[in-house]
Formats: sequence, C-alpha cells, structure tokens
Amino acid sequence: MNTNYDLLVVGGGMVGAAFALACSGKGLTIGVVEARPPRRAWPAGEVDLRVSALSRASERMLARLGAWERIGDLGASPYRQMRVWDAIGGGSIQFDSADLGEPDLGHIVENRVIQLALWERLESLPDLTLICPASIAELERTADGPALVLADGRRLGARLLVAADGRDSLIRDLASIPTQGWDYDQRAIVATVVTAQWHQDTAWQRFLPTGPLAFLPLRDGRCSIVWSADGSRADDLLALDDAAFGQALTDAFERRLGQVRVDGPRASVALRLQHAQRYVESGLALIGDAAHAIHPLAGQGVNLGLLDAAELVAALELALERGRDLASLWTLRRYERARRGDNLAMLAAMDGFKRLFGNDIAPVAALRGWGLDLTDRAVPLKRRFMDRALGLNPGLPPLARPWK
Ligand SMILES: Cc1cc2nc3c(=O)[nH]c(=O)nc-3n(C[C@H](O)[C@H](O)[C@H](O)COP(=O)(O)OP(=O)(O)OC[C@H]3O[C@@H](n4cnc5c(N)ncnc54)[C@H](O)[C@@H]3O)c2cc1C
Repeated sequence: MNTNYDLLVVGGGMVGAAFALACSGKGLTIGVVEARPPRRAWPAGEVDLRVSALSRASERMLARLGAWERIGDLGASPYRQMRVWDAIGGGSIQFDSADLGEPDLGHIVENRVIQLALWERLESLPDLTLICPASIAELERTADGPALVLADGRRLGARLLVAADGRDSLIRDLASIPTQGWDYDQRAIVATVVTAQWHQDTAWQRFLPTGPLAFLPLRDGRCSIVWSADGSRADDLLALDDAAFGQALTDAFERRLGQVRVDGPRASVALRLQHAQRYVESGLALIGDAAHAIHPLAGQGVNLGLLDAAELVAALELALERGRDLASLWTLRRYERARRGDNLAMLAAMDGFKRLFGNDIAPVAALRGWGLDLTDRAVPLKRRFMDRALGLNPGLPPLARPWK
C-alpha cells in the first residue's frame, strides 16, 4: 500500500509530537510514524524515571499547542529556586524566582506526561495520521522526495521527512548523516526518592568530582534524582541494594534534605555528547535529540528540541506564505541557521561545566569555588541565567515567545 503525505514525522516523542501538532491546520497532510504507542495510564503514585525540567519557553510553546493544561492535570511540579554547590571548591550559587517577581523558574514534568498530553491532541486532528506501532525497514530517496518502507510492506512517501527519532536516530543513519562527539564514560542513574525533609520546591544540584547529583522536586513531596557518575563509580552505585544506595545518596548530598530513601526501581543511561554534522538536506530535517544530544547536567535537551521544532515550523510557515517549496534546502537552511549555533553553544557550555567540575586539582577547584560565589553576587550575570530559564532571552521563535 502506498500513501503520500506532505510531511512525514518519524518519532512521536516529546519533540516530534510537538512539531507535528504545530504543523496541523496549515493545509498540509501529516503522518507521524512512531514505534511504540505511549502509555495511557499508570498506577497512582508511580513516577516515570524520566522527567524533564521545562523552561518557560517550553511551557509557553506547550500552552500554545493546547497541551499545557492537560500536563498540569496529569502532574507538573513548579520549582521556585535552584541551588547549586561544589563538593570540592566550596562555591555555591542560588537562583530564586521571587527575585524576578515570577511564580517559579520552571516545571519538573514526567516525560510520559508531556508525550501523552501531546499525543491526545494529535489523535483529535483530521489532517494528521498516526502510524503506530510501526517498524521502518528502508528509506528511499527518489526524485519525488523521500519514502519510508515499513516492515509490513507499506510505503509512505513525503515531500518533507522530519526525523525526531531520538539520540540513536535510524533516519539519520539511513540518510548517512555523520555525527561528531564523544562518550562521557559516565552513566546517569535515575530514581524516585523520599527525603526526610521537604524539598522546598527547589531544584538542587551538587557537583561531585565523579559527576553531578541533582534532586528535582515532585508535586507529592518526593524527588526525582539524576546522578551522573563516572564509569566505575556508576557500576558500584548500581550494584548497591536499595538501603545502601539510599545511604550513598544521603552522604553524597551532604544530608541537605536529611536521610534519603529510594522509592521504586533505578535505571541508568550512558551519556554522550553528539551533534549531527548537518541538520538538513533537501527533503529531510533532523530535530531534537536526533540532531543533538547533550549532558543532562543543566536539563536542557528537550528544551532545545522544542525550540528546534518551533524554528522548523516558522521556516515552513514562511515558505507556505511565499509559495516556496517546503522541502527545498533554501527553506530548511533557515531552520538550521536559526538553531545550530544556539545548540552548539549549549552543548559546548555543558561540556565545559562537566569538565570544569570533574576536575579535582586544588587550584582549579579553588578558582571554581571563587567563580561560583562571584557569579552568585554578580546580579547582571545571574539575571542572564534566569532570563534563559524563564525564556526571556532574545531571538526566540514565535511559538516560544512571551505572551504579548
Ligand atoms: C537522565 C536524563 C535527564 C534528562 N533531563 C532533562 C531535563 O531535565 N530537561 C530537558 O530539557 N532534557 C532532559 N534530558 C534530555 C531529554 O530527555 C531529551 O532531550 C529528550 O527526550 C529528547 O526528545 P526527543 O523527542 O528528541 O527524543 P526521544 O525522547 O528519544 O523520542 C524519540 C521518539 O522516537 C521514537 N522512535 C525512535 N526510533 C524510531 C523508529 N525507528 N521508528 C519510529 N519511532 C521511533 C521513540 O519511540 C520515541 O517516542 C535528560 C536526558 C537524560 C538522559
């Protein structure tokens, strides 16, 4: 069976689903190819091990796409402060939404909640077809545009193919788009924990020489932790039983929230920095983790991916308005120009932080502590960090801009 679409999006995760939703209503036929249907329901009290700290720009975008209210109903946890400190150098920095007269700095949301809220909106759209579950066998590039051949023999043609299929993107590989980057020899261990003391609606992060440890506040008083640890340290931590892991967390976190108890399973993911050498080709665009994967230490991955989606939508809208080809390099390069520099700067900054805080040579640690304390007192510099969290930085695409 042969079906043709104007737009074919591979990956209905957070970024792909947001992109497809934003393209609806523009006179285009859209297909979304997703390997696995999202989970619709889960037991009360169960928390997804994957959560994201969403910036205000992401919140505004999800609100404009009609998904934010549902995300709130399903569970979003505002965080009002952020506290970061260094295990070795001793410096610290604190951000407080009250300093800006804002209600919060952002929200912690389970990934499955974001995906489900978007997916439910996709299901209601007449110009959009969900092809799920689907398994892709081949990518063909013809003069008429790209086409996917599925394992069940269906052939899906498109004017423009958008790959939002994550860090291990099959489409990027099938299109032979190389990536640059390296493995960090670090694993991020994720778990849900109960702390003796309330988290104070604060996102906490302690930089240890073996990697950063973050406690992210959840609505019900628990925390979601992300402990990025060097290879052998991560192996040791994963081998501990729950009681010993809880004690290791308590100690590594200097008892800032008292005794920590693990509540549920643990999982881990190997970390790497990865950047596609190009985001676009004629008839093809990469967005989200398919284009770039970043160290999770500042929780930026999905925020960057949503901005990719918003910029690609803006580029397509302009092409439609001017009667230009949606899938031409001319159209798609506008998106790449808008995002590549920003993504690269964030990738480099997070890589720099990871290396700087992973260094335990005494003079470096002392300088780092001094730098953190200085930044904490440098109001204009701090303001720039907060503006980014609050999505007040200039140059945002229309979908993510502040409300007028
Ligand atoms: C430990 C950890 C903590 C993080 N914390 C944060 C945070 O606080 N804030 C933040 O902004 N980011 C965070 N990130 C990064 C964030 O999780 C990613 O940037 C985000 O998931 C990328 O979204 P995506 O939609 O591009 O890709 P994915 O979430 O990987 O989604 C890809 C989708 O494509 C589908 N797919 C894959 N292959 C195929 C195929 N062949 N055919 C069909 N469908 C396919 C998948 O099923 C999935 O639905 C964190 C990452 C890690 C590892």
